[in-house]
Amino acid sequence: VSPLSWQVGDVSITAVFESYLRTPPRMMLPEAAEPGPAVDAVKDWAFDGNNLLLAVQAFVVWSAGQVILVDACIGNDREFPWPQFDAPDTDFLDRLTAAGAAPADVDLVVCTHLHFDHVGWLTRREDGDWIPTFPNATHLFAEAEWAHWQTHESHGMSLDDTAARIVQADLHQFVSTDHVITDEVRLIPSVGHTPGHVSVQIASQGQGALITGDAIHHPVQVAEPDWVDLQDVDPVQAQQTRRDLLDGVAGRGDLLIGTHFPAPTAGYVKPSGPSWTFIPAS
Ligand SMILES: [Zn+2]
Repeated sequence: VSPLSWQVGDVSITAVFESYLRTPPRMMLPEAAEPGPAVDAVKDWAFDGNNLLLAVQAFVVWSAGQVILVDACIGNDREFPWPQFDAPDTDFLDRLTAAGAAPADVDLVVCTHLHFDHVGWLTRREDGDWIPTFPNATHLFAEAEWAHWQTHESHGMSLDDTAARIVQADLHQFVSTDHVITDEVRLIPSVGHTPGHVSVQIASQGQGALITGDAIHHPVQVAEPDWVDLQDVDPVQAQQTRRDLLDGVAGRGDLLIGTHFPAPTAGYVKPSGPSWTFIPAS
């Protein structure tokens, strides 16, 4: 997969691909199991047969001299509690380096939330231990997100060998869900999928973009933002958040960059009746 890049004013953004997840709709978006206009509109690129096709990828954002990594994918060398899950062994770090962001060059790491497929590369396996992958980076964790997962289990996976290692190494900063990173890049709260979920808003020279995180989990949700996503911790709040995000992106004419959207990954959003239509960026 060749890297996708976008220029938003003075800000450059590159997607760095890790792996695909193929998920039966009944496990995630049950209403996407039946054919219909919303499914048909994205079937070519966002489904694999009848399964939802999700890309696991990170975004490198260059702004104001800072190298910002948004999300940390699944990582290598981990075992997961699901028999059907094929733990990846990928060359993600080589691809990140090839994209111009070697691990030692990363200044800031943002996790949109702390599910397993967003924290994996915070650490890597070395000599039987888990060590920080980005030793020179400040890792931004929304305080509300961190607090939630201290008392809740996520898919049977603990954060002990990922985010907790970063906190132990004192490479973290707990931030609010509206934290400003640079003059061009900030977090905005997009809770519902998880209680401290954030999206990343970019604005520069009159242009804008939004990196969704899992607040918009699959492209079919642009046309059907009210479809229940079984992964959402608070499904009703998540529906409202999707509508708020889509309304904002459409109103500003921003580029929507879907964290799990397969290529072309980014597009524009146009109002269409009670919802929106996704127009992939060329
Ligand atoms: Zn995810």
